[in-house]
Amino acid sequence: MQPTHRTSPGRTRRRRSHHALRGAQSVTCPNCGAPRLPHRACADCGYVRPGLKIKPINES
Ligand SMILES: [Zn+2]
Repeated sequence: MQPTHRTSPGRTRRRRSHHALRGAQSVTCPNCGAPRLPHRACADCGYVRPGLKIKPINES
């Protein structure tokens, strides 16, 4: 079966008006102040949450 009516250009554009992506959010590390991704360990100091730190990726 085919669609009974073709989609008008305006309707296509209205539908696609919701398709834009937004950039990644970032939060400030409470330990060192560097920007980091939410729910991720800090890349600079390895801070995860109070009482938990992991090894930073820039220090091997
Ligand atoms: Zn940090």
